[in-house]
Amino acid sequence: MSASLATVSYIGATILFILSLGGLSNQQTALRGNLYGMIGMTLAVLATVFGPQVTLAGIPWIVGAMLIGASIGLYAAKTVQMTQMPELVALMHSMVGLAAMLVGFATYIDPEATKAVSGAAKSIHEMEIYVGILIGAVTFSGSIIAFGKLSGRIGGNPLLLPGRHWMNLLGLLVVIYFGNAFMQEGATMTPLLVMTAIALLFGIHMVMAIGGADMPVVVSMLNSYSGWAAAATGFMLSNDLLIVTGALVGSSGAILSYIMCKAMARSFISVIAGGFGTAAAAPKPAGGGAQPAGEVISVNAAETAELMREAKSMVIVPGYGMAVAQAQHTVYEITKLLRERGVNVRFGIHPVAGRMPGHMNVLLAEAKVPYDIVFEMDELNDDFPKTDLVMVIGANDIVNPGAQDDPTSPIAGMPVLEVWKAKTSIVMKRSMASGYAGVDNPLFYKENNRMLFGDAKKMLDEVLAVLKS
Ligand code: NDP
Repeated sequence: MSASLATVSYIGATILFILSLGGLSNQQTALRGNLYGMIGMTLAVLATVFGPQVTLAGIPWIVGAMLIGASIGLYAAKTVQMTQMPELVALMHSMVGLAAMLVGFATYIDPEATKAVSGAAKSIHEMEIYVGILIGAVTFSGSIIAFGKLSGRIGGNPLLLPGRHWMNLLGLLVVIYFGNAFMQEGATMTPLLVMTAIALLFGIHMVMAIGGADMPVVVSMLNSYSGWAAAATGFMLSNDLLIVTGALVGSSGAILSYIMCKAMARSFISVIAGGFGTAAAAPKPAGGGAQPAGEVISVNAAETAELMREAKSMVIVPGYGMAVAQAQHTVYEITKLLRERGVNVRFGIHPVAGRMPGHMNVLLAEAKVPYDIVFEMDELNDDFPKTDLVMVIGANDIVNPGAQDDPTSPIAGMPVLEVWKAKTSIVMKRSMASGYAGVDNPLFYKENNRMLFGDAKKMLDEVLAVLKS
């Protein structure tokens, strides 16, 4: 393939990636957005493999690597559960970081890569290697820790080392010092290795310092870092498409981080600096917060169905438990039935419900719930006082009134769905266990709240059966 054809293909792929991001911004167009992305990626891979930078001898290596990668990808896509998606995404981010690191070292070692450059171009090239490995290493180790936290292999409590901000600052100064040494002293391996070790430790430290409820921001932030790592790889390999694609992922991840920060009422700047969101939680470990006292009122499936029959307006608030129970299809069956009977049923989605951005929207779309009855938190919060019944299905932190009432709570300040303002709320979960943030929920003990204990799918099946009878 000629260089000009490869360039045209790269431009085509770039346009498709931008259209893909545009499509993904809306549920109705998300499918089309994904399709654009897939076509763009196919074009990009073909143009790279058959482009001027790859020699014939390299093709078997590329094909071999692609076969291995595609097999692992296909296997993961087929076997991974919806509830494991966030961890899979974190693991994939770590791969992008690792790739950036390895490409950085390979470019440094490869004599061909530096032969043609001298003077200012050489300095820029060395800078690209140094910064590329730095971003890659932080992304790699940070994402591995995020994977551990999301999959429950590492505890959710923040690790708050004494003087951690000073340690981070010292690490930054050492990285800058060795960066200067790398550029000045003819680019030796030692500064590169020292910086890599510090960057790996920083990635671990940054994510370990983050408390459970703040993880959504970390996930989107690492998404952004992985984009910048890819862009850095693009600079090292002089591949324009990789630079553009990395920048698209990096900037869209940064925008998502900003949206998540707003949803969690956190400051964007402190997120970028890392180790954020723990000050409020510091005086009390996760699991702290005022311990609400009192009894809970539990109901059974028949009583739940009765309350549904009596309601004129109802809001369903899904959370992580709905994903675990895979109850979304039954939820929609019940919704259809109630809507046929004239009940105004709507869904209220919290921005950090579940374990990844958009988690609930994906599940509801899979169950074919119409988009026009799915609302965001801000669109619904004022409507709760006028709502007869709220069904909280496997959600906990996102409906915790303690976020508003208890300044010592680890989730203090996080906007929540104010379900307790409805006439009646029913929380459906298996036990009195806390949610991801590890805090008790005063909602359970409110006078107008009922608890329906059991697996969400099983209980909803029972409710559906009663409603049909
Ligand atoms: P939570 O984790 O707060 O609560 C989920 C509840 O579901 C649990 O209390 C659990 O209670 C219940 N549950 C689990 N399995 C079942 C089941 N089979 N049937 C019925 N109930 C079940 O989830 P939320 O969605 O309310 O909040 C999300 C939390 O996750 C927030 O703290 C958020 O910060 C965090 N997070 C979000 C991310 C994102 O990007 N969205 C990423 C990382 C973290 P029980 O065991 O008693 O059944």
